[in-house]
Parts: sequence; C-alpha cells; structure tokens
Amino acid sequence: MAIIVAKFGGTSVADVERIENAADKIKREVERGNKVAVVVSAMSGVTNRLVGYCDAISKLQDLREYDTVVAAGEQITAGLMALALQKRGIGARSWMGWQIPFKTTEMHGKARITDIDPTEILKRMEEDEVAVIPGFQGVTERNRISTLGRGGSDTSAVAMAAALNADRCDIYTDVDGVYTTDPRIVPKARKIKKISFEEMMELASLGAKVLQTRSVEIAAKKKVAMQVLSSFEDRIGSDLPGTLIVKEEKIMEEQLVSGIACSRNEAKITFIGVKDQPGAASKIFTPLSEAGVSVDMIVQNISHDGQLTDMTFTVGRSELTRALDAIEKAGIECEEVRSADNVAKISIVGIGMISNSGVAGTMFEVLSDKGINIEVISTSEIKVSVLIDEEYAELAVRALHTAYGLDAAV
Ligand code: ADP
Ligand code: ASP
Ligand code: MG
Repeated sequence: MAIIVAKFGGTSVADVERIENAADKIKREVERGNKVAVVVSAMSGVTNRLVGYCDAISKLQDLREYDTVVAAGEQITAGLMALALQKRGIGARSWMGWQIPFKTTEMHGKARITDIDPTEILKRMEEDEVAVIPGFQGVTERNRISTLGRGGSDTSAVAMAAALNADRCDIYTDVDGVYTTDPRIVPKARKIKKISFEEMMELASLGAKVLQTRSVEIAAKKKVAMQVLSSFEDRIGSDLPGTLIVKEEKIMEEQLVSGIACSRNEAKITFIGVKDQPGAASKIFTPLSEAGVSVDMIVQNISHDGQLTDMTFTVGRSELTRALDAIEKAGIECEEVRSADNVAKISIVGIGMISNSGVAGTMFEVLSDKGINIEVISTSEIKVSVLIDEEYAELAVRALHTAYGLDAAV
C-alpha cells in the first residue's frame, strides 16, 4: 500500500468526459491497494475567465475579493470529481482549502502555504475514502480565502503530499513530461527523463509553466517524490515514463544547458533621469514591495554627468497597473517613467554552466546573428536570462535550442 497524491491540471479536467477519464485513473490506483488524494485545477479556461471578470471591474482590484472569485473554479471541479468517483463505487469526499485547512500567508493573489493539517484526511484514508482537494486555494490567518498564484494547484498537490508523507506525487498534465523547452514552441524539444530540483526550479521560475516554482521548492525541501506525466495516456502512475524531479546526484547524463524557458508574463518599467545618489533605488523599490509587486530583472545605467541616470526593471505583466499606481503615489523624482509590456524573457538553464565559461557568450552570439536586440541581462550560477522584444521570442527560443544541441534527432 502506498499513499499517492494525484493532481490533474486544467486541460485534464476540461469537461465532464475528461473528469470521468481522470476518475478512471484514480479508480485503478485504488484497485492497486493505494490510498489516494486527488488535487484538481479549475476546468481549462475557467480561471482566465474569472480573472477577466475582476479586471473588467477594476485593474486595481482588492486582492481579497479577487481571491474569492478566482478560487471558485477549483471548487466546481472538486465536487464533480467526487461525484465521478462515487459513480465508480469509490468513497470520495471534496474538501475546500479552508475546510482542511490549507493555512497561508496574507499575500492575497500569491499566498504561500504555511501549514496543512492532514489529520482528518489521513483518518478518512484509513476508511478507504478518497479525498478530492481543489488546488490553488487556501485560507489566511484572518480566515479569508486566498489563492496561491497562477499554476498554484501544483503547489497544493506537493504540499499535500508532504503533509501526508505520501510515497508519490503524480502531476498529470497535457504533456507527457518536462521537455528541454516548451514543446508547443519547439516541436523538436526533447523529453527529459530526470531533471534536478535546482534546474526545474529555475526553468519554472523563468516561465516553463509546466510546474509552479513553489511546488518544486517544496518537493526539494520536503523530499517529495514528484513526477510529471500525461493524463491522456492509458497507463497510470509508476507505469508511465514521465519526468522525475530528483536530486542532482541522481542524474547521469549532464548537459551544459538542460533547458530553455520563455516568459511572456513580463513588463518593463524605465525611470529616465533619476538622481544618481544613495537611496535612489530604495525610493523606487520600497513602494513597489509595499504594494506587493515583485521586481525581477534590474539594470541601472552609468551616469554620464554624475547627476542623473536611467533605471530599468521588470515586473509581472499582470502587476504592471499596480506597479505604475504605486510609483505614481510615491512621487519619485525623475524626468520620465516609461513602461512597455511587449517584452519576453528568454533564459538558458543548466547545472553544467557552473563549471563552464562561454555559455553566455554563445547565447549573445546566437541572438546577435538573428538580429535580436538584448534589453536587459541577468545571470545566476545556473542560468542566463535576457529580455527581448516579444515579437522575437519564438525565433530566439528555437535558435538557442538548436545552438545548444538540444534538438531531438528526427
Ligand atoms: P496544467 O493545466 O496541467 O497545470 P499547464 O498549462 O499549467 O498545465 O502546464 C503545461 C504546459 O506547460 C504545456 O502544455 C506546455 O505548453 C507548457 N510548457 C512550458 N514549458 C514546458 C517544458 N519545458 N516542458 C513541458 N511543458 C512546458
Ligand atoms: N486554476 C489555477 C490557474 O489557472 C491554478 C492551476 O490551474 O494550477 O492558474
Ligand atoms: Mg499548471
């Protein structure tokens, strides 16, 4: 007997037929003698629709109410999944985030899980009941509904697996594993059999939306055995060759660059003519952090006259309005503030970079050969990211994929 958490993403529960198909898979896991908790996303497209409703009322909405609205999608799927399991003769019950509870921070819209009480779920598992849990939802200390940020059902699943001390966390999705880059952009992308937590975290945080970054962070910290697999195949769980997320030393073949990520969820803000003096950066970034806006890439130009300089940084595209509002309210002294959301961040990721120089150079050469201008660069030990015009995003990803030898043999 094993404890298994199985998560089904939006496309895998897009309609009643797919929910029934997912329920068949759960039934087979139960018939193998396993105890199962199912985590479900909202049906494909539902969360986007709910976000759209909120934005239509106000782009500067109260995030507590945004959470109340967007958390609703998962509630529907959880109830339907419980019904589909019951129809198959399996004892099943749905549990909203607040009922378990999934305690989270107060950071509405992108809350972090702080604690899960698995007692009742474990007790019911002993009685052969399958728990159906809506992903993405939590409850704050102040007893308000929270959500975990887009893609957050992955994190709900891994956190639940950690709390239940599960033997496996299976992330069923619409691709059959993690690829060297988004297979929808590069058809020649290769499936990766095993990827390290570190690389997966970087790829996820840089835009590979196949897993939410936080889910990989929790899996690494709590040693959750996690795999990504297709919900469209007939085989289930351990029978499927998906992608395992593992500790670095378990990986045999190592590449210089393991994967390429592309994020279109970027917007760029430039301050022109800010005073080049101590404290200038904190005057800009403190109000942004107080408004709950996360800043990512930052460049400050050298001042030509020792007086004024330009500063460029990126924020999440969905946070641009909030960021500009916070900047305006802070009344920061400068000549002009410009913003643009037609940018994309392209990143190369690989543990092999630690011990090899020249990896970034190849990236810049490839982009230059294609006539693509780099607006901002940021690096870490295992990644290099560049910000470019969104129009060239796919061209850049394809060219880099080939240049680093990642294309699948055809
Ligand atoms: P779900 O609804 O199951 O959570 P998502 O849409 O969030 O699924 O994530 C799966 C999608 O992630 C795939 O359809 C694919 O287009 C995209 N993706 C981006 N980068 C990668 C990658 N490196 N490997 C696999 N899929 C990727
Ligand atoms: N439904 C949420 C979203 O679309 C959470 C998830 O699917 O993981 O972002
Ligand atoms: Mg997802």
